[in-house]
Amino acid sequence: MNENQGQKADSPLSQELSEFQRAAAEHADWIASYFAGIRNIPVSQSVKPGAVKAALPQTAPETGESLEQIFADFQSTIFPALTLWNHPRFFGYFPSSSPPPAVLAEFLAAALNVNGMIWKSSPGATELEQTVLAWLRQWLALPETFFGIIYDTASTGVLHALAAARQWVAPQCRTEGMQPDLTVYISEHTHSSAEKAAITLGFGQNRVRKIPVDAQYRMQVSALEAALEADQRAGKRPCAIVATVGTTSTTAIDPVSEIAPIANHYGVWLHVDAAYAGSAAIVPEMRYILQGVEQAHSLVLNPHKWLYVPSDCSVLYTRFPDALRGAFSLKPEYLRTSEDDQVVNFMDYGFQLGRRFRSLKLWYVMRALGRQGIIERLRHALHLAQVAKQLVEADPDFELCAPVPLSLVCFRHRGGDSVNQRLHAEVNRTGKAFLSHTVLNGAYVLRLAVGNFQTQEEDVRETWSLIRQTANAIAPAETVSICLQSG
Ligand code: PLP
Repeated sequence: MNENQGQKADSPLSQELSEFQRAAAEHADWIASYFAGIRNIPVSQSVKPGAVKAALPQTAPETGESLEQIFADFQSTIFPALTLWNHPRFFGYFPSSSPPPAVLAEFLAAALNVNGMIWKSSPGATELEQTVLAWLRQWLALPETFFGIIYDTASTGVLHALAAARQWVAPQCRTEGMQPDLTVYISEHTHSSAEKAAITLGFGQNRVRKIPVDAQYRMQVSALEAALEADQRAGKRPCAIVATVGTTSTTAIDPVSEIAPIANHYGVWLHVDAAYAGSAAIVPEMRYILQGVEQAHSLVLNPHKWLYVPSDCSVLYTRFPDALRGAFSLKPEYLRTSEDDQVVNFMDYGFQLGRRFRSLKLWYVMRALGRQGIIERLRHALHLAQVAKQLVEADPDFELCAPVPLSLVCFRHRGGDSVNQRLHAEVNRTGKAFLSHTVLNGAYVLRLAVGNFQTQEEDVRETWSLIRQTANAIAPAETVSICLQSG
């Protein structure tokens, strides 16, 4: 394309475009330096509540300001108050990575600003989404019958899965409203979004059964079966089970292949939440984690967690797209098109009408890294978690608190909760690494999750040294070991 094609050199748009090109180059340079020098930048900084708001004007500008000034203010006021999720020493929650090709895709998507609500509203967006989700399905060795759609988050995914389950089990809900006897089964370790979805859809918290977990935090199948049986006997209608592959606290893997026949027996929808862990199944020797998923009714995985795609990009696959469409399709005249019987209109498969062009960043990443490149990165993260696990195991002051099947290590100092809480706060305060926590069997546990595209072994080893040194500086209050088995 020619530069500023068709614009007079001195027109306002031409000036705006010149300014855009200059500012874009400046932003690109800043991003490249950010990536290159990232280990000299704190992953998080201590910020007092209200400090950022106090540094910003209380009212928006009356007239436009220069991009130069806005960018300068971003660097001086906003950036230092950010916790940098795209940092190689961000080990908290589940890391979310955004490598350079993904950044370019987001840039392009913002410029085009297409809306993929229906095929007609931007055919390329719909068909690219169908294509990349077929590619991903192949990489994950999922059946071809799995229909895919991209939502913003896994929370939205489970909401849609439960809505589809309700439609499948009790279709009258669509017209009559919620039925009072429908029940949902999750485990004590299922992500809170499943319970929130049940609340939102009107199942009600009292209809959500929290099935106990075993010593490795996996849903107990016998307890699930007993709960289903008891509910059925009591005249309730079991509607959906949410099993997890890679739970949030410990990355436990629920036994999906044992749960699936039970779901079948009771006529219940089985949703599998593999939001974080699902991507790991691209690695051939990790494929086992999705065993049994081919029998599930729906599956969620988040490329924005561990597939090097920035937020937000969450994929839902389902064998029953008609249930999803039955729950959500509602077509006003102005959204009807002559192609409707030949195409997929993604708005029919969700609550949302407008849809961002999220498939573009998935396409960029899948192409720029390739399957082998992604496998290499995932294997590296899996290896680094084993390095961290060995460092914990070799240290008599620390203990491992859960098995490490993926890239998360749960550990704690043997000195008790207050030591671990202080250790956590002090490590994060240095800005040299960022950890998060959970509670297991009543004990405060630190979580170190590897997933950033730049994380190297030295990041893990130096973070461990930091944890070690910080622990030395904190006098253990008591030496108790209430934590758990390792594996
Ligand atoms: N499911 C699991 C297992 C998670 O760990 C998380 C978040 O960490 C979610 C669901 C929710 O993900 P999202 O932020 O995409 O809604």
